[in-house]
Amino acid sequence: MILMKEKVIIIGAGIGGLATALRLLNAGYEVVIYEKEDKVGGRVNRIQEKGYTFDLTATISMMPQEFYLLFEELGLRLEDYIEISYPKSLYYTFFKDGTYYDFSTDLIKLNRQLESISTKDAVGYFQLMSDIYEKYQLANQAFLSQSCDQASSFFTFKHLKEIFKLEPLSNVYDYVSKFIKDEKLKEYICFQTMYIGMSPYDCSSIYTLLPGVSQFYGLPHLKGGMYRLVEVMEQLIKEWGGIIHTNSLVESLVIEDKCVLGIQLSDRIDKGDYIIANAQVPYVMHELQSIIRPKEYHLSCSAFILYLGLKQKLPMLNIHNIYINQAFKENIQSAFDGKLPKESSFYFYVPSRMDEGMAPTNGEVINVIIRVPNLKAQNVEWNEQTILLLKEQIYKALAQVTKIEHFNELVEVEKYLTPVDLATHFNCYEGIAFGLSHDLTQTNYFRPHHQSDDLKGLYFVGDCTHPGTGISLVLKSARQLSKQICKHI
Ligand SMILES: Cc1cc2nc3c(=O)[nH]c(=O)nc-3n(C[C@H](O)[C@H](O)[C@H](O)COP(=O)(O)OP(=O)(O)OC[C@H]3O[C@@H](n4cnc5c(N)ncnc54)[C@H](O)[C@@H]3O)c2cc1C
Repeated sequence: MILMKEKVIIIGAGIGGLATALRLLNAGYEVVIYEKEDKVGGRVNRIQEKGYTFDLTATISMMPQEFYLLFEELGLRLEDYIEISYPKSLYYTFFKDGTYYDFSTDLIKLNRQLESISTKDAVGYFQLMSDIYEKYQLANQAFLSQSCDQASSFFTFKHLKEIFKLEPLSNVYDYVSKFIKDEKLKEYICFQTMYIGMSPYDCSSIYTLLPGVSQFYGLPHLKGGMYRLVEVMEQLIKEWGGIIHTNSLVESLVIEDKCVLGIQLSDRIDKGDYIIANAQVPYVMHELQSIIRPKEYHLSCSAFILYLGLKQKLPMLNIHNIYINQAFKENIQSAFDGKLPKESSFYFYVPSRMDEGMAPTNGEVINVIIRVPNLKAQNVEWNEQTILLLKEQIYKALAQVTKIEHFNELVEVEKYLTPVDLATHFNCYEGIAFGLSHDLTQTNYFRPHHQSDDLKGLYFVGDCTHPGTGISLVLKSARQLSKQICKHI
């Protein structure tokens, strides 16, 4: 007897869609992906111009163990496909007043840096890291790595005790302040929690996991940039018989009696046993169906990115850098108060510092990422004036950091990305960069489930589902969803 393979249709070829496709192909399913753009990868994408290679959005491989786990569970070795190296320094951190900190992955160098601030802060930093490490182990095992779709397995006495141990009710800044006195050191730690698109003054102290895991596991660089991961995933999907249709916008879901049977394309319908949306949950519920009233969610902020191709080497920079401006709190908060920052603090990425192939000889690539309001903000217009304002802040700061007065004269390529681009290209709902907000009402069981509660046959994977935003968490989302689907057999 020949068993028919069950057919899975995936809407979107972001990291979530690609990882789910690989896992389900490996488990014996037939997989077809429809991606609206001409290239796969979603937000993890690439721009190439005049010999400069820019990662489009994601640049930091946080919790790299998730990258390895995906390959291991597929029976492969990540290192056989991608050359991976670990920078010696996590971040060079530059402050407006000229102060400079180097946070090394080498314990002796790190300690030297911390002691130069104060021995009290060195003690505080190590105590903070130890506390975060314990919480990370607990959170990872009990929540991040478990599916939270079922109320019965989430609302248990054991889980309640574990949540209590995580002390989720204090905010990041207050929690860090219990250990650290130096304001600049606090700002460096708090800044990193913004990677999930939340303010350190509002979000739960749980998100100090981000600076914690960076220190514990490092921030490895994938040779060729983050898009290398996407290229390998695409190649494997094709080799394993998966089908990827690019330039294929899914216009709506095909629904009968609250059961999703397939998808509507411009010229035809395709039907499957499982319809998985990698496109963001609020976008799907607002734009691809009209049967269920969409829920209103709290949203993360967005981002503005300036990409620079420079015709000079900048040895004073690390691959990952942070610039902290004055009035840190006020400027950080502006992205969440619907305003543009007057004096931005930002992260900047210079991959050509350790990956020479990403820029022409004697050149450098820089991505500068500033957190800005999402498109719900009424009073920010993404016009030339706004872009000029942000560019001026960036050039001024980079001139200060590099001590190159006419920094803009080094620029050979200049490009940018706004929240409007995120919405237009990837259907990021209201231009959000980091999925739904990670406030406590939208995490774990309270985040949209992998299996839709409203429409049978519809599943979700990606940064709007549990456990949340960022490549590693999206890889976890794909793992949890695939396990759930495989259990159905
Ligand atoms: C500025 C910025 C910086 C970031 N930095 C980092 C970082 O350093 N490290 C990190 O780990 N993470 C980072 N992230 C987050 C990370 O990029 C995301 O969490 C992750 O890429 C989300 O993947 P996804 O698969 O959930 O969604 P997406 O990448 O958005 O994929 C969804 C896909 O669905 C497609 N699609 C949408 N609608 C349709 C439709 N109707 N029909 C067909 N296709 C459709 C889209 O085109 C897209 O390809 C960053 C994000 C941004 C924006």
